[in-house]
Amino acid sequence: MRGPPAELLLPGIPPGERLITRRRFLRFGRGFAALAAAGALPAWRSVRRVRFQESPFTLGVASGDPTASGAVLWTRLDPAELAFADAASREVAVRWEVSADDAFRQIVRTGESRALPELGHSVHAEVEGLEPGRWYWYRFDAGGIESPAGRLRTAPAPGEVPASLRFAFASCQHYEHGYYTAYRHMAAEEPELIIHLGDYIYEMRYGEIIRDAAPDELMTLADYRNRYALYRSDPDLQAAHAACPWIVTWDDHEVDNNYAGAVPEDAQGRHEFLMRRAAAYQAYYEFMPLRRSSMPTGPAMQLFRRLDFGDLASFHVLDTRQYRSDQACGDGRAPRCWPAFTPDRTLLGAAQEAWLHDGLASGPARWNFLAQQVRMAEVAIPPREGESEESFSLDMWDGYPAERERLLGFLAREEVPNPVVLTGDIHSHWAADLKRDFGDPGSATVGVELVGSSISTGGDGADAQRFTAEILAANPHVRLFSGLRGYVSVTVGPEGCRSDFRTVPYVSRPGAPVETRASFAVEDVRAGLEEA
Ligand code: FE
Ligand code: CA
Repeated sequence: MRGPPAELLLPGIPPGERLITRRRFLRFGRGFAALAAAGALPAWRSVRRVRFQESPFTLGVASGDPTASGAVLWTRLDPAELAFADAASREVAVRWEVSADDAFRQIVRTGESRALPELGHSVHAEVEGLEPGRWYWYRFDAGGIESPAGRLRTAPAPGEVPASLRFAFASCQHYEHGYYTAYRHMAAEEPELIIHLGDYIYEMRYGEIIRDAAPDELMTLADYRNRYALYRSDPDLQAAHAACPWIVTWDDHEVDNNYAGAVPEDAQGRHEFLMRRAAAYQAYYEFMPLRRSSMPTGPAMQLFRRLDFGDLASFHVLDTRQYRSDQACGDGRAPRCWPAFTPDRTLLGAAQEAWLHDGLASGPARWNFLAQQVRMAEVAIPPREGESEESFSLDMWDGYPAERERLLGFLAREEVPNPVVLTGDIHSHWAADLKRDFGDPGSATVGVELVGSSISTGGDGADAQRFTAEILAANPHVRLFSGLRGYVSVTVGPEGCRSDFRTVPYVSRPGAPVETRASFAVEDVRAGLEEA
């Protein structure tokens, strides 16, 4: 859990304006600082006893950000049950226990957390003192009612190189677009870790409605909280959260489609948007198994961080939304955009870029996974009818080529061990070699990118044969395109990394089977994808 403090990282706000912004958020910020301090105290003032009518654990349980000695345990109490217990505006004591066996006979750690109304009665208990590289079970108790149990696995000890690590990654789960069957299959694979790369919720309605949420775009804290609660009520999503620890990062739809730093998609005043962003970030924190180090301060939240799995793998978790420059030529598809090449335009922001380079150069890992949002490989889209030249997607790294050039140059120069970029956002499976020069197929491959399709966004999806053929022909470094829904399962060991691109044939009704659309291997040291 390394990274600079959030306060240093207010994105792109000029100093004068920052003062106004910070003053505006001072009440908010102070509240959080006090909460953080209170959470660190060993003993708490008395907490009211509550009596619930039914289980308050309707939103499930989760764990996250595992280390070799612990993880975050998460739950959140049901608002209807809190209202019944006359506790909606009060603190509630929530006990938790961690067991070495699934029957909870060998309890190894217990503790008590306060679920606070200011944080929507969420619980983020950071358990320590566990053994490295093994499974544990955990559960909560509030008002004498036990939660369902979840399972977590700690990371291997520093210096250890386990024979393998199995994880899966996911993104883009528009509730209204379909069922989360893919999560059911993912949980059944019993991965040791699940990584979510963003668009966990959608703030807006579009497309065909399979499951109804609400038509209006989210703006307030209550709006965002209700949306997360709806998504988290899904049994397949709950099963995936209970199956193993998650490492999460966000993309745009957790706040607003294609936003960049303090710039919203639609006309909205800067301060108004930052207030909205603060509400969205708070709801995200409340619903995710994140550590206190990620607790937001107004519209700022520390999400980029690094998690090590012994000396086998490091996950460099990136945030390409909070600090990015506004898209240079719009956020859609456009011909080569020369203003985008200005070197000071950024996706990561200077502080995160320096932190990333530093961690890549000095880390112990044999495999370096960059868990991030938008596609990094250049993809030239052949001209469509009425167009005279190829185009690029400018919300992705293709809209920030100078920073990509710095990163790929750095990977090559520093000989960073086995870089593997994990990506979401575009609701389709892709696999690509990351070239030192995408315009020259003979240039060095400095790493690979695995892009996982959506869980549900976009509805059933299809393998578009003609589009696939055109894209592959124009971009020889791209090895796979599939427009079906799904996720990616990865097994990494000292000698290699295998990725299986799972797909479900439909999401418009429950019960889809799972298939493997393609598999790739990457051998240690030899950058580049091999069909497996
Ligand atoms: Fe998406
Ligand atoms: Ca997105």
